[in-house]
Amino acid sequence: MARRAQPGAEQYESLRASLLFCPKCRRATPTRERLLLVLPTGNLYEYLCMECGTSTGSKTEQEQSGPRLFRP
Ligand SMILES: [Zn+2]
Repeated sequence: MARRAQPGAEQYESLRASLLFCPKCRRATPTRERLLLVLPTGNLYEYLCMECGTSTGSKTEQEQSGPRLFRP
C-alpha cells in the first residue's frame, strides 16, 4: 500500500486544496476543486478525491460586494 513519493508531485495546481475524508479511500485525501454550478447567489464547487475521483464534499462560494470578511 506504500506509495513512493515522486519529486515534484507535491506541487498541486490549487494551493487551496485541503484534505477531506474520502469514503472510498477510507482516509483523508487531497482534493481537487471543480466548479459545478454557477448560481446567481454564488458558485457551487465540488471537491473530488485526487486518488479515486470520488466526490468528498461541496461548497458554495458566494460573491459578496463590499469589504471581504476574514473568517478565523
Ligand atoms: Zn478517494
